[in-house]
Amino acid sequence: GYRARSAYKLKQLDETAELFSPGDRVVDLGAAPGGWLQVAAEEVGEHGKVVGVDLQRIDELEARNVQTIRGDMTDDETKARLSDAVGADGADVVVSDMAPNMTGEYNLDHARSVYLARQAFEVALDLLDSGGDLVVKVFDGPDLPDLRADMEEEFQYVRATHPDASRQESSELYLVAKKRITAPVRKGD
Ligand code: SAM
Repeated sequence: GYRARSAYKLKQLDETAELFSPGDRVVDLGAAPGGWLQVAAEEVGEHGKVVGVDLQRIDELEARNVQTIRGDMTDDETKARLSDAVGADGADVVVSDMAPNMTGEYNLDHARSVYLARQAFEVALDLLDSGGDLVVKVFDGPDLPDLRADMEEEFQYVRATHPDASRQESSELYLVAKKRITAPVRKGD
């Protein structure tokens, strides 16, 4: 079984958006307790690699193609550790299920979730190869169109989806950005 019900959301996103292929290198942001890590590890197989990051400790997974980092993705030091773990070949897919601690104040929760989504977008621009995909969770609200427009400049197309496995009443959605347009310039290139 999976560590979190959210695993089924990623399965559904993978089915509809064709995210993972065997051998892919995947970055999973906000990965605890590890449901998405389990799904990604299955899909990329033993020749693939999955690197997960979370503020919380992630119990070790059985899958040997998974590596985890404990850290804050709003922190440059964590981004540097992630970049080292991914390596010079970069990533094929970046997924983020990061969510802020909910205050119940709609606009604040929305703004914080957009801020986290922008961290994931930044990481994607740093690590994703040309043709790579990005999926980010975000709570719906007034700052969403700007985020989406910024993503549309860097990818062939962006879709907003509400997986059936997400609770109906929640305002969460996923922006799925397919096929990064330009290759990143990395150290040593
Ligand atoms: N996808 C996960 C799974 O399937 O097990 C569930 C992720 S849970 C919905 C959201 C996670 O985002 C939490 O574990 C939280 O600690 C993490 N998170 C929130 N802000 C973060 C940050 N700044 N840096 C790293 N992780 C963060």
